[in-house]
Amino acid sequence: MNQTHKLSLAVAGALLVAACSSAAPTDAAQKSPEVYPVMKTEAEWKKQLNDIQYHVLREKGTERAFTGQYWNNKHEGVYHCAGCNQPLYASKDKFKSGTGWPSYTRPIDDKAVKIETDTSFGMVREELLCSRCGGHLGHRFPDGPPPTGQRHCINSASLVFVPAQHDGADPANPDDKAAKK
Ligand SMILES: [Zn+2]
Repeated sequence: MNQTHKLSLAVAGALLVAACSSAAPTDAAQKSPEVYPVMKTEAEWKKQLNDIQYHVLREKGTERAFTGQYWNNKHEGVYHCAGCNQPLYASKDKFKSGTGWPSYTRPIDDKAVKIETDTSFGMVREELLCSRCGGHLGHRFPDGPPPTGQRHCINSASLVFVPAQHDGADPANPDDKAAKK
């Protein structure tokens, strides 16, 4: 092996090391935890939420089909986040999907939900999160009805239904809701 060949091998080796080490900080930055307007410790969430709410919202669990509170709810009103009370879905966008989970064609506001890629269980799905507290809501699928063609498949446990006041159902603390608007 002549002198020039040895030198070029050494240079190539140095470049390879440089390329690998420069990639490391980017990886670390991507793994930094998300920041949401509402942030609580696991202990605080456990105190606030019941078991199934905690499992779905904070551990990305899924309630069993046809067991939730709202899959068959046909009353008029707004579905709020069970974690932070942000309005998420309106009854006018709810449709009968036959899946056993409350299903909506769109959120009440695009900013209310956050969409992330979920690759768990060997599938690539679009995960839906509350944009205010980061709570897991469910998944979005491209097989919904008009006008969006999308199906937001949501766990009842992630939601708290607030009936419209003229619906005849029991409106819980209407004064409190009006004050927050
Ligand atoms: Zn929330």
